Amino acid sequence: MPIATVNPTTGQTLRTFDALDADGIERCLDEAARTAVTYRRTGFAERAALLNRAADLLEAEGEDIARTMTVEMGKPLAAARAEAAKCVKAMRWYAANAEGLLADERPADSDVRDAGASAVRVRYRPLGVVLAVMPWNFPLWQVVRFAAPALMAGNVGLLKHSSNVPQTALYLGDLFRRAGFPEGCFQTLLIGSGPVEGILRDPRVAAATLTGSEPAGRAVASVAGDEVKKTVLELGGSDPYIVMPSADIARAAKTAVTARVQNNGQSCIAAKRFIVHTDVYEEFARLFTEGMTALTVGDPMRESTDVGPLATESGRADVEELVDDAVRQGATVLCGGRRPPGHPDGWFYEPTVLADVTPEMRIDLEETFGPVATLYRVGSLDEAVERANHTPFGLSSNVWTRDEADLDRFVQELEAGGIFVNGMTASHPALPFGGVKRSGYGRELSGHGIREFCNITTVWQA
Ligand code: NDP
Repeated sequence: MPIATVNPTTGQTLRTFDALDADGIERCLDEAARTAVTYRRTGFAERAALLNRAADLLEAEGEDIARTMTVEMGKPLAAARAEAAKCVKAMRWYAANAEGLLADERPADSDVRDAGASAVRVRYRPLGVVLAVMPWNFPLWQVVRFAAPALMAGNVGLLKHSSNVPQTALYLGDLFRRAGFPEGCFQTLLIGSGPVEGILRDPRVAAATLTGSEPAGRAVASVAGDEVKKTVLELGGSDPYIVMPSADIARAAKTAVTARVQNNGQSCIAAKRFIVHTDVYEEFARLFTEGMTALTVGDPMRESTDVGPLATESGRADVEELVDDAVRQGATVLCGGRRPPGHPDGWFYEPTVLADVTPEMRIDLEETFGPVATLYRVGSLDEAVERANHTPFGLSSNVWTRDEADLDRFVQELEAGGIFVNGMTASHPALPFGGVKRSGYGRELSGHGIREFCNITTVWQA
């Protein structure tokens, strides 16, 4: 894929970039490795001051970078602004909390009395250079949620961003440099996916994190496995959104629309499969379909737009194939199911609701990365759980119920890294984020996230 900004609203190529050559990559690796040696000696206060400065810069420049994101990948401008603001918040949160999250742990005397030591502690030390392979869908947030904890832990970062968001990628490298982080602390490598294996095999690189598709995750994790290097993977999701009879159906249907079409439907934690109890199915289906139909599809730069184009032409083709396959095999289109009229150039797709989905259809098990919802009718809680877990993914889940017994069962049995009750899934700096099954492993954010790329070191003193 060429490294280029192609506006998904118009299909026009606005800027192309030369990829870094082998010498350029070598210079970045060398710089990163040298900086890792000195940066790890800095204290939390110094790192926090730098990260807070980056947050201040980003806050001041939020509007500009939001516009860049909207031009590069098509998210509505309001959502892009919110993304920049969320990054500012996460940076400040880690600046304020990293020292406490990584404080030495001292096991209880009673537990280690027989270890023969006068003192024992556990120290969280940095791993060194971490490679981050990142996607275009939240082009600022996905990177910041890695970079903020990594830098606070004393690691240094190398960013290989998606080839379709090069301007956002360059902005990020520049942001940390302007904030005063030492040269080499956080570098953007403008490269395609080809050189990733060589970089990951390089002994100067200690670990990798990847957010993106399952094939990309598998490729990076298998190389890292071969090199015995730590990885964190945040891959796709096909999150269930379960609506039980005790729920507030009007609220559940209203939130369902946002949960599905956020980021033009291209979010790993978007609700994708709507599993509704038969007692409230008709009412939910009607309200949800009305809500999806009422959305304004159009130019993401307009304040009135709810849903912009899909980020890439191939992304829209993937969504079209999934919907067409389902319709061919008997799915019922409650709304959408086509490109909207009036947008001949951009990669738009109408908000779509499909019912009567059956196991032969690809959409039943594959992730739909666009504004397309599938509706399932279930007759009991058991069936809801079974249907929710009937997916290779396990990122997050959404449950609408006011029945405590139902809730206990869901919390016990849903195979997912998150369970959001009477609301929709969202990430937060203080809460762990990640999945099980094919959604990946490891956690980002919170104390769990910052400790992923630490050497958990036992210090034993006679
Ligand atoms: P990819 O997973 O292909 O891209 C994500 C990142 O991985 C990019 O930086 C990409 O680089 C890189 N990459 C891709 N293949 C390899 C590889 N073999 N080795 C090393 N790095 C690699 O996502 P796409 O943009 O192609 O989107 C395809 C699908 O992935 C979506 O439809 C969606 O289902 C899923 N996805 C999930 C996301 C999530 O948040 N979990 C985010 C984005 C996509 P390059 O751009 O240069 O190819």
